Amino acid sequence: MDKLLRVDMTTLTVTDEPFPSEWELQGGRGLSAKILNKEVDPKCDPLGAGNKVVLAPGVLSGSIAPTSGRMSVGGKSPLTGGIKEANSGGQAGQKLMRLGYRAIIVQGKATDAAKRYLLTVNKAGYALTEAPELKMLRTYACAELLRDRHGAKAAFVMVGPAGELGLSGASVGFTDEGKKNPARHAARGGLGAALGVKGLKAMVIDDDGTKARLPENMDTFKAQVQQMTKEHKEGPQIFKHGTSTTVPIANMLSTFPTRNRRMMQFEHAANLDGAVIVKNFETRGGGMHHCMTGCIVSCSNVVHGADGNYITSALEFETLALCGSNCEISDLDTVARMDRLCDELGLDTIETGGAIGMAMDCGALAFGDGAAALALMEKIDKGDPLAEAVGRGVVATAKHFGEARIPAVRGQGIPAWELRSLPATAITYATSAMGADHTAGLVIFTPPGKDAATASQEAQLVNALCDSSGFCKFQQPKIDEIRTLYGAHVGREVSFEEAADLGWNVLVDEWAFNTNAGFTAADDDVPEFCRTEAVPSNGMTVTATAEELQSVFTRRPISDELRTMRAVG
Ligand code: SF4
Repeated sequence: MDKLLRVDMTTLTVTDEPFPSEWELQGGRGLSAKILNKEVDPKCDPLGAGNKVVLAPGVLSGSIAPTSGRMSVGGKSPLTGGIKEANSGGQAGQKLMRLGYRAIIVQGKATDAAKRYLLTVNKAGYALTEAPELKMLRTYACAELLRDRHGAKAAFVMVGPAGELGLSGASVGFTDEGKKNPARHAARGGLGAALGVKGLKAMVIDDDGTKARLPENMDTFKAQVQQMTKEHKEGPQIFKHGTSTTVPIANMLSTFPTRNRRMMQFEHAANLDGAVIVKNFETRGGGMHHCMTGCIVSCSNVVHGADGNYITSALEFETLALCGSNCEISDLDTVARMDRLCDELGLDTIETGGAIGMAMDCGALAFGDGAAALALMEKIDKGDPLAEAVGRGVVATAKHFGEARIPAVRGQGIPAWELRSLPATAITYATSAMGADHTAGLVIFTPPGKDAATASQEAQLVNALCDSSGFCKFQQPKIDEIRTLYGAHVGREVSFEEAADLGWNVLVDEWAFNTNAGFTAADDDVPEFCRTEAVPSNGMTVTATAEELQSVFTRRPISDELRTMRAVG
C-alpha cells in the first residue's frame, strides 16, 4: 500500500501514514495542492514553521510510462506569497515512487537554526540524522560527499547555500542520471528557501531492491506506452537538441528579453543559439543525455568548455535568455558558468538572471559584463547586500535600487517568453496562481478563432494535468494519453472528461489557496509598463482587459482543440 512520508523538523521525527485512497489519481502538482490546502494556513509565513514543503512524484512516476518521473516540489512561496509548484527531472521521482511513497511532507522547523539534517529513505526504512558537515556546502560538493557515502546509485535532493540563507530565489536541486550531478532544479518560487530554513539540507533516496510500479491492466498500459514511444521516434523530435535551440525562433518572435526587457530581440542571439552548443560537442565533448531513467526525449545538454572540461547541464533556453541576452551577455561559456553557479548556490536561473539584468539597468554593473555578473553571483553566499538582493530575486533587487519598473508578476520574475508579444501567455502569467511562469500555460500561437483567455485557460488545464501525472512537458502528452494510462494504472475507465476535471481542479485548488492567502482580483494583472511600453521590434503591449482576465476563472466547455492539445513548457 502506498504511503505518505512525514518529516517533522521541529520534533526531528519521521513517520509514515497510509496514502488516502480517494487521492489515487492525485500526484505531483495536484497532490501538493491538496495537501497544502488541507494542512497549511495560507496566511502563514512561508519561511516559518507553519509552512510545509511537499515533494511529490507524479501519478505515473516509477512506472514504465516514458519520461514520467518528474518530481513536484510544492509549498507556500517565499517569492510570491501564494501557492507554488516547481517540478524537476532527475532521479528522485522515480525512486521515491518505487519505494511506495507518494510524497514527502516536510513540516516544522529545526529549533536550533544552526543545525543541518539529512533524510535517508530506502527499502529498509527511513532516518533523519544530524549532518553538520553539509552546512553551507555548494551543491556539487554536497552531492560528491553524499555519493562517496551512499553510492552513486542513490538519488540526492538538496538545497544550496541560497536555500539555507532563506533567499527567495532559492531552488531545490536533484541529481541527474549519468554523471549524478545536482544539475536539475525545481527552481521557481523560492521553494528552496522554504525547505532550507527548516534545517533539512539534503535527502538520500535509494530504491535498491525495488521494481517498477505495475499497472492493474498491463496490456492496455503497455500498448499506450508503445504507441507513445513509436510516435515520438517517428515524430519531429523538436527537443532532441534541447530547448536551447529555440533561441533563433524566440528572437524572431520578439520574445528573447534583452537589456532588462527594454528590447525583445538581441543582436548577438546567434552566439547563444543551442546549435552552437551542439556544434561544440564535436570538439569539446559533452552531448545530449536524459536526466532521468525512462526518458525517451533526452533534451538535456551536457556543456563543456573550450578545455574539454564539464561546465554545466542543462543549459536551457530560459537561462540563455535571462542570464544571457537579458544582461546583454553574448558569450556562451560565460552564460554556462552562470548556470553552473546558480546550480551550485541553489538558485533559479530565471529569477537570478532577471535580478542581474535589473542591477545592470540600475547601473550597478555594465550590461554585457559577464565577469562582473559572475563576481556578483560569487558573493551571494557571502553576505554582500546587493548580491543577497539578487539572490532574493527581481523584486528584491528592484527594491534595493528603488526602481518602479519591475518585470515580475505576483512577485515572480517574468520568464523569457514575453507577455507583450504573446497575448494568451500574458493572460496565463496574470491569472495563474503561480505568477509569471511559462510552465503554467505557455501559448505561443493562439489558435485561429479562439480568444486569448480561452487559449490560456486550456493551456493551463493541460499543463496542470501534465504536472500532476509525472510526465515531463517535453514528452508533450495529450489528455487522452494520460487518461488511458491512468485508467490502465488503476484498473478502471478514466474518461476524457474525468481527466480534464482533474486538471481543472488543480487550478481551482491553487486559486482557492491564494484567495485564502489574501490575493484579490487586483492581483490578477501584469506590470504597468507592459501596458504602456511597447516592444520596440513589434510595437505590442498587453491589451487584455480586466474582464478578459477574470473570465479565465470560469470554465469553458471542452473544445476540439483541448482534445488534441499537448502540454508544453
Ligand atoms: S525530456 Fe529533458 S527535462 Fe524532460 S526528463 Fe528528459 S532529459 Fe529531463
